Amino acid sequence: MNALVRGAVGAPFAIRDVAMDYIAANRFDRPTLVIDTARIAAQYDALSEGLAGAHIHYAVKANPEARILQMLVERGSGFDAASRAEIEMCLAAGARPAKISFGNTVKKPADIAFAWNAGITLFAADAEEELEKIAAHAPGARVYLRIIVENSQADWPLTRKFGCAPSALPPLLDRAVALGLKPVGLSFHVGSQTREARFWAPVLDQVAGAWHQALADGHALTLLNIGGGFPAFYDQPVEAPRAYAAGVMAEVHARFGDIEVMAEPGRGLVAEAGHIAAEVLLVSRKSGSDLHRWVYLDIGKFSGLAETMDEAIRYRIDTPHDGGETGPCILAGPSCDSADVLYEKRPLQLPLALQAGDRVVIRNCGAYTTTYASVGFNGFPPLDVVVL
Ligand SMILES: *Cc1c(COP(=O)(O)O)cnc(C)c1O
Repeated sequence: MNALVRGAVGAPFAIRDVAMDYIAANRFDRPTLVIDTARIAAQYDALSEGLAGAHIHYAVKANPEARILQMLVERGSGFDAASRAEIEMCLAAGARPAKISFGNTVKKPADIAFAWNAGITLFAADAEEELEKIAAHAPGARVYLRIIVENSQADWPLTRKFGCAPSALPPLLDRAVALGLKPVGLSFHVGSQTREARFWAPVLDQVAGAWHQALADGHALTLLNIGGGFPAFYDQPVEAPRAYAAGVMAEVHARFGDIEVMAEPGRGLVAEAGHIAAEVLLVSRKSGSDLHRWVYLDIGKFSGLAETMDEAIRYRIDTPHDGGETGPCILAGPSCDSADVLYEKRPLQLPLALQAGDRVVIRNCGAYTTTYASVGFNGFPPLDVVVL
């Protein structure tokens, strides 16, 4: 299998899938993510063409493999880091501090001081106490304020935990100034896996309202951080990256004019470049009349597939019996925690011939898998990684 047909709007295109080739040619004794750096490079180029003029800050948490970070440094990417450890990974990969933003709105004071001393000057905040911490440990730093946006149409919304209400923004901007910080702009996150560019419009309307209010209040904002949300192909069609990014930028410019834009793609850059080689451990029915088969894999929620939580992200699974007759399956991981069920509310259709020992491939999981794996729950090893 060396063709990946992407469910793009318009004509699907097929390109050689080096990670699939590698999986087909090798044996793995434990679940392994195989990820193709060249594929990420191509995705970066497509996104940066579409995002013309915007600064890309890769959201490191999506996949912090050193080789990926190094390749992105070579291409001129910036980085959105959420902790001291992520900052250190970016610096070790050769990123200049000026290209790194500290984008977590909830930071340890010691991490702020570390970042500032390392030369990082751009920080996120969404609350007064956070501004005070930044002013104390990174005096005079540039800050952008994150606001809450509503009506996310994302498959993996990130809307509730971070950001301030637009009504809380004016006092926070004033507070930042009073603390000696430089409030340079706003940020938001449209929600991860926002499948269509047009879904951004209602969210950008809300941000534009807050932005223009801040300008009217006398804050000379210049930077809009549009966050992530760029989609990957799982089980539903998504637009191709260049067209999607260009569509988002058109919506941005229509509302904000000619401003400095920063984007933080994570999933959209790395997800499609990686696949997990896994194995079926057991296929069973709970009774003779059970309509569903239970399929247990050697990987589950605690060993890399955390994004199956609430069945939000629906991975595609290739089996050796594809093309044969299928039936509904409940898919579960190997651990002794009954929460370790991947898909049950919406069962997966898998071949009837599937059996223990079959090798399967979980497609397009280069994002949010390796670092979500626990260190050894039930003695199952963390997800292994091969970077091509
Ligand atoms: C996780 C995260 C991102 C990346 O989001 P994707 O949907 O994976 O692109 C970007 N910005 C911030 C602040 C994040 O926390």
